Amino acid sequence: MKSVVHAACPHDCPDACGVLITIEDGRATHLEGDPAHPVTRGFLCAKVTKYLDRVYSPDRVLYPMRRRDSAPKGPGGRGTPPLQAFERISWDEALDEIARKLRQVADQHGPESILPYSYGGTLGALNGASMDRRFFHRLGASQLDRTICASAGEEGLKSVIGVKLGTEPEQFAHARTIIAWGSNIHGNNVHLWPFIEEARHKGAKLVVIDPYKTRTAKFADWYLPINPGTDIALALGMMNVIINEDLYDADYVSRYTVGFDQLKARVQEYPLDKVARWTGISAADIHKLATDYATQRPSVIRVNYGIQRSENGGTAMRAVAMLPCLIGSWKEVGGGLQMSTSGAFGLNKAALEMPELMQKALGRPARVVNMSQLGSALNKLDVPPIKALFVYKMGFIINMRYLRHPVK
Ligand code: SF4
Repeated sequence: MKSVVHAACPHDCPDACGVLITIEDGRATHLEGDPAHPVTRGFLCAKVTKYLDRVYSPDRVLYPMRRRDSAPKGPGGRGTPPLQAFERISWDEALDEIARKLRQVADQHGPESILPYSYGGTLGALNGASMDRRFFHRLGASQLDRTICASAGEEGLKSVIGVKLGTEPEQFAHARTIIAWGSNIHGNNVHLWPFIEEARHKGAKLVVIDPYKTRTAKFADWYLPINPGTDIALALGMMNVIINEDLYDADYVSRYTVGFDQLKARVQEYPLDKVARWTGISAADIHKLATDYATQRPSVIRVNYGIQRSENGGTAMRAVAMLPCLIGSWKEVGGGLQMSTSGAFGLNKAALEMPELMQKALGRPARVVNMSQLGSALNKLDVPPIKALFVYKMGFIINMRYLRHPVK
């Protein structure tokens, strides 16, 4: 019997593609993007197009596998251990053993000696932001501050526009100036690309600002290589031109923004010759970029997380996010800025995660460990030391030889 199931891609990916899965005799035989989905538009990314190879791969781990006591932990304690190092056990055995060990660690050292460690993967709200949190909160385990990828940029964006929202992908088709700022759209944001192509067929220009000449940069109308970590200077240099040459939207600024006078004073510290020295982009090019951005409208910026992964990265996102507020491009179809659109779906996080369960376990909120400082946390935390690291939705290798406190 053959049928087609309408599904959604399970990856924690902003495109949230609609997927059509053909099922024959209980087995998925074909996968394709849903042509009726407004963003997927009938195609999937390279990773998910071949998903069935993984779903039915003989190498897929389908059962709990326990490392044999005698098995070495990879060559010299490093690397991926061979499959023979593991033995299959039942789900009951696995659950009992994990529960026994966690209980043992909690009894001996206190529940905060258990640290959950996770980030992104698939089915994010279910796998990594609801039942898992409840479990660890009820246990009284240490909390994890999930900072490793995007939090600096999120804070930078929210400090300007208040929410994690951005221009919808469909709107890019209406832009005349599109700036890909640290964003390899052609390689990593494939469902935005057709909208950009549509805009370019109507005469839009694509500008790429990136230290690395990505595939998107190669396709761009104008590529501006920028010195890494100098995005704040470039954004402030652009604002210097836009404000001093009266290219900003005074009406929009007066109605919808605060702090313009302070910004105007601040950008005077960023004259183009100085910004050019920092960024490696000529003063003439910065001037043209600012002028095109402010006048060839609608203008939209697709900024990605790269710019916030350097010193003062949150401030870089904050500076870039001010640009559309200055020229008032939020009021135009095809204007604005996109970093993330995840705030569009209003999940009640507190109801999903139930942080109040920590009160039951500890009578207070558990301590918070910054995931970006894991090495230091494993080596230096003492009251209590971390004795169990519970890794899920996360792939990484820790070299256990460098740990002061052995972890389970
Ligand atoms: S782009 Fe790929 S990973 Fe992202 S939602 Fe679509 S199919 Fe899934």
